[in-house]
Amino acid sequence: MTSHLLPTYARVNLAFERGEGAWLIAANGERYLDFTSGVAVNALGHAHPRLLAALAEQAGKVWHVSNLYEIPQAERVARRLCQASFADVVFFCNSGAEAMECAIKTARKYQSANDAPERYRIITFEGAFHGRTLATLAAGGQKKYLDGFGPVVDGFDQVPFGDLDATKRAIGSETAAILIEPIMGESGVRVVALSFLRALRAQCDRHGLLLIFDEVQTGMGRTGELFAYQRGDVKPDIMALAKALGGGFPLGACLATSAAAKGMTVGSHGSTFGGNPLAMSVANAVLDVMLAPGFLDHVQRIALLFKQRLAEIKDRYPALIAEVRGEGLLIGLRALVPAGNLVDALRAEKMIAVAAGDNVVRLLPPLIVSEQEIAEGIARLDRACARLQRAVPGDAGVAAAAGERNRETAR
Ligand SMILES: *Cc1c(COP(=O)(O)O)cnc(C)c1O
Repeated sequence: MTSHLLPTYARVNLAFERGEGAWLIAANGERYLDFTSGVAVNALGHAHPRLLAALAEQAGKVWHVSNLYEIPQAERVARRLCQASFADVVFFCNSGAEAMECAIKTARKYQSANDAPERYRIITFEGAFHGRTLATLAAGGQKKYLDGFGPVVDGFDQVPFGDLDATKRAIGSETAAILIEPIMGESGVRVVALSFLRALRAQCDRHGLLLIFDEVQTGMGRTGELFAYQRGDVKPDIMALAKALGGGFPLGACLATSAAAKGMTVGSHGSTFGGNPLAMSVANAVLDVMLAPGFLDHVQRIALLFKQRLAEIKDRYPALIAEVRGEGLLIGLRALVPAGNLVDALRAEKMIAVAAGDNVVRLLPPLIVSEQEIAEGIARLDRACARLQRAVPGDAGVAAAAGERNRETAR
């Protein structure tokens, strides 16, 4: 059957009919363990009763009213996000790229409102991913995504990942801000050192620049803190959120201090759908769950357990897995075979994971994942590795055979 969808995705030939918690159920009834969570979106798993109830209740009242009127549900989400973070104000939109657009505009407008309109450039890092709009593509600077789309939006200076000297050299009289993901998700779950974030904060303070964190993937509990920046002592001036914020309902947000948002006055920005009652009711339900005592403790505890078990898998299959990295339940396995092969082998074991840059397989279980489901995920990963090991020739095959033996004794 020919598809009438624009063929911009390489889709797996598999469709899911339903979901329950950490499980996705295919049309033929087969159950898959979901360690992708819609790429860090379904943080509370599938069909969470609290989200279902909130969505159904609001759906029967009013879905959308436009931002010409007050939206109490949005006031409440904004208040809760600010109370839980560095921020004073929030702008709601519908996606990560839009949240980043707002962050970029807010930083430029800040400089302009402070009589420095020539300061519009933003320093970003190689391998970054900030979205697919023209400006966020320019911010990400990845050639494969920019190719063929005409002149690259001006105003972004990219420096190598983790290179402080290059960052300092890139700061000039036109620089407005520095933008970074505290953990670079798409480019392979690369954790930025706290010392580097501290150094960026110091440079921003010294030169009057704003520090922007893209927490679209890392935010909303994924790393074991509500926001990834909270594992350290460095606060941004502006932060973009999306993915897990709506638990699967499309939703993005740009948070800022009131100082950083100085230029964002009436008429300076807008979104038709952003922060409508339906989206905001779901976001409040997400926050009800995530802000409840013990929720983040569960994420931290289960993540530690998962990491320990993954380290054992890495030791058992040294020819397949080079490194386990990440924070909380944002985990990357750097593979020594093509990452796609491991993703395929996992899917053959009815477990879904997603590849990232640097030949990494990302494991993003929902934050509500249980200890038993982690054990099940490890068992499936073990079988997937054994499957691959048998297929790897030469030295790797020998190492694989050793891995098999270790696996047997570990049972
Ligand atoms: C996914 C992602 C985006 C883009 O989000 P969209 O909702 O696809 O626009 C931006 N930044 C980061 C870090 C992301 O992971």
